[in-house]
Amino acid sequence: MPQKTRLAVIGGGPGGYAAAFLAADLGLETTLIDPEPHPGGVCLYRGCIPSKALLHAARVITESREAAHWGIEFAEPKIKLEKLRSWKRSVVERLTGGLGQLCKQRKVTYIQGEAAFDDAHTLRIRNRQGGEQPLAFEHAIIATGSLPATLPGLPASPRLMDSSGALEIESIPKTMLVIGGGYIGLELGTVYAALGTQVSVVEMMPGLLPGVDRDLVNPLAKRLEGLFQSVMVSTKVAEIKEQKDGLRVKFDPPGSNGAGQVFEKVLVSVGRKPNSKIPGLEKTRVQVDERGFIRVDEQRRTAEPSIFAIGDVAGEPMLAHKASHEGRTAVEAIAGRKVAFEPRAIPAVVFTDPEIAWCGLTEEQAKAQNRNVKVARFPWAASGRAITLDRPEGVTKLVIDPETESVLGVGITGVGAGELIAEGVLAVEMAALAADVSLTIHPHPTLSETVMEAAEVFFGQSTHVYRPRRD
Ligand SMILES: Cc1cc2nc3c(=O)[nH]c(=O)nc-3n(C[C@H](O)[C@H](O)[C@H](O)COP(=O)(O)OP(=O)(O)OC[C@H]3O[C@@H](n4cnc5c(N)ncnc54)[C@H](O)[C@@H]3O)c2cc1C
Repeated sequence: MPQKTRLAVIGGGPGGYAAAFLAADLGLETTLIDPEPHPGGVCLYRGCIPSKALLHAARVITESREAAHWGIEFAEPKIKLEKLRSWKRSVVERLTGGLGQLCKQRKVTYIQGEAAFDDAHTLRIRNRQGGEQPLAFEHAIIATGSLPATLPGLPASPRLMDSSGALEIESIPKTMLVIGGGYIGLELGTVYAALGTQVSVVEMMPGLLPGVDRDLVNPLAKRLEGLFQSVMVSTKVAEIKEQKDGLRVKFDPPGSNGAGQVFEKVLVSVGRKPNSKIPGLEKTRVQVDERGFIRVDEQRRTAEPSIFAIGDVAGEPMLAHKASHEGRTAVEAIAGRKVAFEPRAIPAVVFTDPEIAWCGLTEEQAKAQNRNVKVARFPWAASGRAITLDRPEGVTKLVIDPETESVLGVGITGVGAGELIAEGVLAVEMAALAADVSLTIHPHPTLSETVMEAAEVFFGQSTHVYRPRRD
C-alpha cells in the first residue's frame, strides 16, 4: 500500500470508479478504496445490475405467458433458483472483474478496505484483516454512496428484507408485501411476481412513483393491477408483528381487514439515505446538510478545498449515471480545467414492465414552477411497432416551451422506454427545437418514431394521429 497519493477516491461505485479512471487517464496518480474485492459499488453488487438481470428473467417469463394471445403456448416455466442466482452472480462477477482489470490497465492502485479521515490531507485505511495504515493525499473524492432507509419500530426478523436481501432471492415466498411504491420496490416486486409470488404494495402517497407525471405512471399502474395481488395507496404501515406463519401487518387506514394481513416476506423499500457518516469527517471542514448529503459547489468541491464529493452522498437524484458524470466533473476540476456540473437533463428510468423514463422538465415541475409549457403527446396505440409488439399502452410526450418551441423535457412509458429516452436527453441537452425532432428521419417501424411523431403532434401534423392544432 502506498504512503501517499495524489488523488484518493473513497468508494468504488459508478461515481468513484469513473472518477478514478478519468484521473488516471489524465495522468493523475490515483488510489481507489472500497471494501469489495473489485470496484462496482452498490450499482454493480447490489443495485442496478443484479436487479436488471433479474428483471430480464422476469420479462421472459411474462412474455412467454403473453404469447398465448398470439397463438403460441409455452408450458409454465420451471424455476431453478440456484441457477438463476448463479447466473445473476456471474453477471455481477463479469462486470466487477472487468472493472478490476481496467484498474490494473490504468495503474490505479486499488485498496480493498475502508477509509476514515485523520485530517484534510490524510486518510486512515482499515484493511480486511483489521490493520490500519495512513494514506496522505493532495485531493480526495468522497463517493461513499447511499444505504437503504428503514422504518422505525420494525421487528428483527429474517422475513424482513431490504433491496440487497431481496436481490439474493433466497426463496420464492408465497406472499410478499412491498413497503414503498418507488422504483426499487416496483422493480423488485415485478421480479417476485413473475417468479410466482403474490405481491402486494403499500404506498403512503396517493399514487405509485410519487413525483413522476401521472400520465406516465397510469399505464404501469393499470398493468400492475393484473400482476400484483393488491396496490394500496394513501396507506401507511401501522404495525408489523412476527407470528409463526409470517409477519402480520396492520395498515392505516385499516381497509376491510382491521386485523391486518399476514405476509411470508416483507420488503422495505422506503428510499435511500446518503452514506455520509464517514469516520473522522468531522476533522475536516466538509459540511453535511440536514438530510445527510455532503454540501458541494458546482464543481463538486466541499467546504474543504482539498476534498470533493460526488454521487448519492452528494445529493439527488441518486442515480448511477449522475454519479459518474459528477465524478468526471470533479476530476476535471482537480486537473485544473474550467468545468461545472450543470446538466439540463438527467434521465431517470423505472425498469418495470412497461418501463417509464423521463428527462428534463416534467409536467409536474412546470406546474409547480407556474411555467407555461405545451405538452405534445403521442399515444403508442398509433405506433405500428408498438402494435407488432402487442404493447400499445405506451405514451411518448414532449414538454415544449411555447415561445421558443425548444424541447424542455421528454417523458416515455412503454417497452424499451429506458433506451428511447437517450434521444430525449440529447434533444434537451442540445436545446433542440420541436422542429429539429420532427424533421429528423426516424427508422420505421420502430418505437423511436413516437418521439418524432410527438413533435409532429406539437405542430398538429402527426401522420398517425389526427389532432389539428387549435391555434
Ligand atoms: C436495487 C437498486 C436498484 C438500482 N437501480 C438503478 C438503476 O437501474 N439505475 C441507476 O442509475 N441507479 C440505480 N440504483 C441506484 C444506484 O445504485 C446508485 O445511484 C449508485 O450506485 C450511486 O453510485 P455512487 O458511486 O454514489 O455510490 P455506490 O454505488 O453506493 O458505491 C459506494 C461505495 O462506497 C463504499 N464505501 C462506503 N463507505 C466507505 C468508506 N468509508 N471507505 C471506502 N469505501 C466506502 C461502499 O461500500 C460502496 O461500495 C439502484 C439502487 C438499488 C439499491
